[in-house]
Amino acid sequence: MSRFFSARYAELDAYVPGEQPKDKKYIKLNTNESPFPPSPSVAEAVSLEAGELMLYSDPESRALTRAVAELYDVGEGSVLMTNGSDEILNFAFMAFSDADHPIAFADVTYGFYPVFAALNAIPCEIIPLRDGFKLDYKDYVGINKNIVIANPNAPTGMAISVRQIEEIVRSNPNNVVIIDEAYVDFGAESAVPLTKKYDNLIVTMTFSKSRSMAGARLGFGIANPALIRDMNTIKYSTNPYNVNRLTSAAGIAAIKDNAYYMDNAKIIAENREYTREKLTSLGFEVLPSLTNFIFARTPEVSGEDLYLGLKQRGILVRHFTKERIKDYNRITIGRREQMDALILAIEDILKEKRK
Ligand SMILES: *Cc1c(COP(=O)(O)O)cnc(C)c1O
Repeated sequence: MSRFFSARYAELDAYVPGEQPKDKKYIKLNTNESPFPPSPSVAEAVSLEAGELMLYSDPESRALTRAVAELYDVGEGSVLMTNGSDEILNFAFMAFSDADHPIAFADVTYGFYPVFAALNAIPCEIIPLRDGFKLDYKDYVGINKNIVIANPNAPTGMAISVRQIEEIVRSNPNNVVIIDEAYVDFGAESAVPLTKKYDNLIVTMTFSKSRSMAGARLGFGIANPALIRDMNTIKYSTNPYNVNRLTSAAGIAAIKDNAYYMDNAKIIAENREYTREKLTSLGFEVLPSLTNFIFARTPEVSGEDLYLGLKQRGILVRHFTKERIKDYNRITIGRREQMDALILAIEDILKEKRK
């Protein structure tokens, strides 16, 4: 820290992204990216758009907003496009929470929530997941606080039902509820239809996972137009051109090819169940997952040793040091042959341990 760093950030623990090492070629199962490339029309659209880069992007992202609104069957005024969904999450934290409006979230959930809260000096109410990392919706009913829930949750992979989400939203009418649906395309139910019925719900989504565009940085929020206007005030006060031309063109092309991405999500879900069965038969405990990752542990090898053993064998997974989850690893689901390589490597690690 330099002597110039503002005291208001002195205590800030920044978010630590999963590693993206360049020392050798790994099988990357550590940051929940898609193993499939974007559809061919995405590259085409980006290369066409490159000739227009001397011009600023559309600050309203109109064409992209229209495409997303149509796909999700909501009004254009209910959509805000952002630079990754991390940006819409930060906008929502900034717009609706402050010292007098704390935000509640689980103890085991997306690691960026406490960072956004700290960055914006927002008090947090941490609500521990129940046994088996289950999120009990009743813990959020009528708590009279802003709320953010990743559904399905990360890194556990488990989801609550839309009926339960509705109960949370309905019972906290004077608070904003954010449902982070980064992984919804892999099998969970979306709360988007509820945004037409309730004026206090924001659903956030991303192109980074099911839509194979983590490197393009594109996300969005769907909510009542009044909430969208408030978040636009934050956007125009920080970065009006938050979605660049290339990303916008890529996003429009990706929406047109929606079927390709939904087919890929189905393949991932099949590979997930395949991997889950294999690991279970190797003695692992694997949490049920509706995402593109699984959260697993074995009594035979510590979470850290498994992570290190896999890394040594050219496979990256994500290990968290937080006490409650340190025995586990979060393993992104890739193509079938990647999962077979993972299983072989794990068998090798177990064999060495059992010797
Ligand atoms: C990956 C992820 C995001 C955001 O990703 P972006 O790349 O910023 O769109 C948000 N929430 C959760 C729970 C995630 O796992």
